[in-house]
Amino acid sequence: MEKWYQLDTEQTEKKLHVTVQKGLSSNQAKQRQKQFGPNHLKSSDKQSRWLIFLKQFQDFMVLVLLAATLIAGMLGEYVDAITIMFIVLVNGFIGYFQEQKAEKSLEKLKELAAPTATVLRDGTWEKLPSSELVPGDIVRVKTGDRIPADIRVVSSKGMETEESALTGESLPVMKHATAMKKPDLEAQDQTNMAFKGTLVTRGWGTGIVVATGMNTVMGQIASLMSNTKKIPTPLERKLAELGKILIIIALFLTGLVIAVGVYHGHPLYEMFLAGVSLAVAAIPEGLPAIVTVALSLGVQRMIRKKAVVRKLSAVETLGCASVICSDKTGTMTQNQMTVKEIYHQGAQIEVSGEGYQIDGNFYINDKQIDDNFADLNKMLLYGVLCNNAALKVKKGQYIVDGDPTDGALIIAARKFGLKPEMERNYRIIKEIPFDSERKRMSVVVEDENKQRFVITKGAPDILMPRLTYILEKNGRGVLKERDRQAIEAAVERMAEKALRTIAIAIKPLKQTDTLEAHMIEKDLQFVGVYGMIDPPRKEVKAAIQECRQAGIKTVMITGDHVKTARAIAEKLELLPKEGLVLDGQQLSAMSVEELRNEIENVYVFARVTPQHKLKIVQAFQERGHVVAMTGDGINDAPAIKASDIGISMGITGTDVTKEASSLVLMDDNFATIKAAIQEGRNIYENIRKFIRYLLSSNVGEILVMLFAMLLSLPLPLVPVQILWVNLVTDGLPAMALGLDKPEEDVMRRKPRSPKEGVFARGLAYKILSRGLLIGVVTLVAFMVTYHHDPDSLTYARTVAFSTLVMAQLIHVFDCRSEISIFNRNPFENVYLLLAVLTSVLMLFVVIYWPPLQPIFHTTFLAAKDWMLILALSALPTVLFGYTKK
Ligand code: ADP
Ligand code: MG
Repeated sequence: MEKWYQLDTEQTEKKLHVTVQKGLSSNQAKQRQKQFGPNHLKSSDKQSRWLIFLKQFQDFMVLVLLAATLIAGMLGEYVDAITIMFIVLVNGFIGYFQEQKAEKSLEKLKELAAPTATVLRDGTWEKLPSSELVPGDIVRVKTGDRIPADIRVVSSKGMETEESALTGESLPVMKHATAMKKPDLEAQDQTNMAFKGTLVTRGWGTGIVVATGMNTVMGQIASLMSNTKKIPTPLERKLAELGKILIIIALFLTGLVIAVGVYHGHPLYEMFLAGVSLAVAAIPEGLPAIVTVALSLGVQRMIRKKAVVRKLSAVETLGCASVICSDKTGTMTQNQMTVKEIYHQGAQIEVSGEGYQIDGNFYINDKQIDDNFADLNKMLLYGVLCNNAALKVKKGQYIVDGDPTDGALIIAARKFGLKPEMERNYRIIKEIPFDSERKRMSVVVEDENKQRFVITKGAPDILMPRLTYILEKNGRGVLKERDRQAIEAAVERMAEKALRTIAIAIKPLKQTDTLEAHMIEKDLQFVGVYGMIDPPRKEVKAAIQECRQAGIKTVMITGDHVKTARAIAEKLELLPKEGLVLDGQQLSAMSVEELRNEIENVYVFARVTPQHKLKIVQAFQERGHVVAMTGDGINDAPAIKASDIGISMGITGTDVTKEASSLVLMDDNFATIKAAIQEGRNIYENIRKFIRYLLSSNVGEILVMLFAMLLSLPLPLVPVQILWVNLVTDGLPAMALGLDKPEEDVMRRKPRSPKEGVFARGLAYKILSRGLLIGVVTLVAFMVTYHHDPDSLTYARTVAFSTLVMAQLIHVFDCRSEISIFNRNPFENVYLLLAVLTSVLMLFVVIYWPPLQPIFHTTFLAAKDWMLILALSALPTVLFGYTKK
């Protein structure tokens, strides 16, 4: 193996035929992809298709049915035996396809949630799925990222990585770019290499990919690979348990049917076959699979709305959310910062222009100021030097590459006429990056004359205690109390206008001064304050309102100034009159209990650090809330993990937060959370719909048989008919219910309790009452047409069979509403219409196509028969449609 750590950058470039400036060409990348394969660790083997197929028949009752069929075949009932076998086979195929579909959409999920990497290809930086990386790619990583492949670091800005996954050592390792000449270094000592799967805890850097996929150090430690087993969601678990109980009930009732039938003189083997068919039909063995399909179809709908679910169980929990704690910047606002105001040497300067257009001027009291106004050019230059963003041109428009807050400062400087050439005279010697904890950023720069100085910018109240001097017209002065008050007043004035404020300060250094953070960030000299606007996203106000109607509280969380936060909250109508705003200091002083007692009245948390988020989540949870919490930075991960629904940002989010989250917002937009919750509620309602449909159908099937036996009648349905009903009416219509549109009032209901059982809100009653009536009308249809002579038996069975099928197909529309069938437009769900039409067509085929008549024990029906069938089969649905019970 190549010892990459021994090579310097140039040697590495040469070896991999790439330059750090341009990266690979897309052609090169394509070729290498073929050569090296995708950059991921091979996951454990999947279930083979055959196994999934065979699994469909492992069900005990299906095996009994097959055995019974075999016996029937041996006794000479070939037609029945073959038909039953055939139906069982078809059923198996359907189960197989459902499971495949579920599996496939889960795979797709994984792909979507897969990590991305920032890569240099053809000279431009792009975001690509990490799996597409190849050796030679130039990648950029920053705090919170997972290293996407093994890389040789070629530049590092205070980059540290945590490699415990690899070495067990949890202390971060500082990374640098210099070649290391030692002959044999273990991975943990190769400090100019960063390894796939490890975590950037600080700073940022670039590197050349030297190994991908299974060739990485991580890939070699095969034991580290975790099996990605599918964990059943709470609902799936509940249904699996319920399934067991239902099996027992179904077995008991079919046993009863058999016993009563035999008692009344039916031949044992006939009763046995009928009973087992009934059991197979009545046991909702397909329910968990349909639930999975419904969940994953819902997930696909969510993806279209830009919400990517990482854990299937989140789909269920989403519907229960009662509080959304959302970041302000970028989630509720556009994250398109524009400097609108500047406070500098006592003057209040206004800046014109919108967005990232470099088009605007500087005014005091509506009078444009000239180029050499005070030290404004210095202040703007400092803002550009203490900066982590860059301006790029894309399709003739300026865009900001990096933090929009920093971007705004560059735009402001360019508006004032500061040319990029000016900055080239300064060299950055040290950088302490911005983070939400410190709320400030510092750089040490050196000018052409080797004169060094610090530039620090950050939240004004955080900088204030670190200020001793002030930059005045004629040089450095001491910062007096009067100056402090003036600065504070300026900051408040800006914050009340919803402006985000950033103060900037400097300090000259001697060549020999230490560059420790606590030493350079003190006794600073105040230069000015920027006020920048970040307009709310347009859709957010309406989304907050919809959430309120849905019984979901929205809470804004931000690191910004209290007044800025309040002003934006008011714009969004998020803060009611009696609502409270808490700031980070107040939060720190409170215990979780104290917070818990107040939290229902709090709508905005300002000047918070990521640590506070955890406290907020806990306080809400202690009040019994189901909490959704957003986050992007590495420090947000604990709160996201602790919340019921962790939400991360697809664009600005770090890998760590994405991994901790169960939902990723591809557009970072608050409104997407609302859409996801709506979809989550809808999916759950749809699942209720088909559970109701399937179970009431089964109740009907069992009861018609049981009643007939109790009344000493012949079997109203023969085994093949029972199995046919199970196959046709259970399959398609149930699936179509899973695709149903929500009822109008889903977002006007209170959130569902996560403890709610499957049969809550009257579902059990609905299943039993509808099932009972379906059974009764089918029996009535049979009794009216059966004249106690064997000749009419086939005729009566055909009528009963048709009545049962039609009753179920009409009832399926009833299941679409929690209240009444008349509340909904029956033509709304095209899939359902198609499913029902297909089922009716298949019913006609087995009744009217002569070759199938002996197989399904059917006969021609006349128009008057259909009148009876329709009248009876519509009865349950119409009746309950009126009673609304
Ligand atoms: P949020 O993400 O909720 O807006 P942040 O933690 O990003 O909160 O910002 C908190 C404060 O830190 C801001 O109000 C601003 O004063 C300051 N700040 C934000 N970004 C930067 C930056 N890039 N450099 C210096 N200070 C910043
Ligand atoms: Mg921020």
